[in-house]
Amino acid sequence: MRRNITAALVACAAAAAAVLGAACGGDDAGGDGVRVVATTTQIGALVREVAGDRVQLTVLLAAGADAHDYEPSPQDSRTIRQADLVLKNGIGLDDWLDDVVKNSGTKARVVVATEGIEPIEGEAHDDHGHDHGEGDPHVWHDPENVKVMAKNIAEALADVDDVNAATYRANAEAYAKKLDDVDREIMALFAPIPPAQRKVVTNHESLNYFARRYQLEIIGAIIPGTAKEAQPSAQDLAKLTDLIRSEGVKAVLAEAEIDPKVAEQLAKDTGVRVVTGVYADSLGPAGSGADTIDGMLLHNARLIAEALK
Ligand SMILES: [Zn+2]
Repeated sequence: MRRNITAALVACAAAAAAVLGAACGGDDAGGDGVRVVATTTQIGALVREVAGDRVQLTVLLAAGADAHDYEPSPQDSRTIRQADLVLKNGIGLDDWLDDVVKNSGTKARVVVATEGIEPIEGEAHDDHGHDHGEGDPHVWHDPENVKVMAKNIAEALADVDDVNAATYRANAEAYAKKLDDVDREIMALFAPIPPAQRKVVTNHESLNYFARRYQLEIIGAIIPGTAKEAQPSAQDLAKLTDLIRSEGVKAVLAEAEIDPKVAEQLAKDTGVRVVTGVYADSLGPAGSGADTIDGMLLHNARLIAEALK
């Protein structure tokens, strides 16, 4: 779960060995290397882009874990209590954080990384309370939104650690340029695919931002709503089967985080392609090439474009 602590400690030990009195946090919160907690893998990855190893980062969600209904542990509460900065996604995705923050008694600053992003309106038809009509929280599937998140994170870091403020801002700007490059690369991947061939069904409603940016048409989702707890009824699936046939859907996109069984069956029944391994709610594990947001976006784009060709 907290795979980044070890990495940070190793980095700190190396830095301390190299430079006497290097900036690596001791036990008291006043020490160097501010303590940052990120809820999601996406925010964690952005902190790494913006701060490198200047901060002590803990990411609460492991790759592949469910952000929608994560249950924080007592250890999470202790980590948050000692933090200087807590970064959350907001838009209803990680509201479970709020109680831990309150109960931990932390003095950390809590910042919503998606501040300023206009969410796509949610369907608000899941009955588990995860979508309070705030909209679709999966904003990181559009590089333009990711640029906003990186900037917000840089400003939040600058606030708690003004010594490194210029570095954080410069890194966020450099990453924005990288995202622009990736955006162009993805545009080029989809450019040869005619509009009629861009119809897809997703597993849960997680790729709305990607679809809007790259002009894919999402005809339906297997799991209704932007949260994942709802189960489709036999009737829902029959309706979706009809839609796939009548609309000429090209592919069913199954996220890496969800058992693709239903998606595979649906694809089999309708004779369309199923794309497994799309990273939707979580980035990929370390070393997968999808453990950064730019890597994840390209990974997904290549998979999807290949299926639609
Ligand atoms: Zn989701």
